[in-house]
Amino acid sequence: MMIHLIVLLSAVCTLTLGCPTIISKSQWGGRNPTCRTALGTQLPYIIIHHTEGSACSSVSSCTTQMKSIQNYHMNSNGWCDIGYNFLVGGDGSIFEGRGWSSVGAHAPNYNSNSIGISFIGSFTSSAPTTAAQNAVKSLISCAVSRGTVRSAYTLKGHRNVTATDCPGNTLYNIIKSWPRFAP
Ligand SMILES: [Zn+2]
Repeated sequence: MMIHLIVLLSAVCTLTLGCPTIISKSQWGGRNPTCRTALGTQLPYIIIHHTEGSACSSVSSCTTQMKSIQNYHMNSNGWCDIGYNFLVGGDGSIFEGRGWSSVGAHAPNYNSNSIGISFIGSFTSSAPTTAAQNAVKSLISCAVSRGTVRSAYTLKGHRNVTATDCPGNTLYNIIKSWPRFAP
């Protein structure tokens, strides 16, 4: 029993390399990008968003949201792919958007030097769940540990770099207290 537990734990640690589980695009059934620009490493910024649409609280309902958001970004906005690098649901599920190695379309002038993370839902007058907040914090730590984002990164809300209400007043007030935030 103990040996099985140790084997299991070491397998989990090896697989995740200190990073949270991320539901890959192929796992949620996302479409392939129609074009792609490689994203660098040691990026200086992390930009926080909300999708300003429906919230979701299960892998199943968030998968539906993911497909809908991707279709909107590709069909209506004419983008190559879903705009964000990652999206997070109310149950703390993390979904791969453009991922770690492709430039996103989420914040003009910042796309090529940031990772864009979006909370699925609208957080103008309500807060994301603790699970979602913890998932985003863990994704940020992962971004640093894998070298995609520099350890001295700056955390910003979308509204700090573009004229927008994103990520919503309530969520914006929350991330203002997170480490390395600077408007
Ligand atoms: Zn935004």
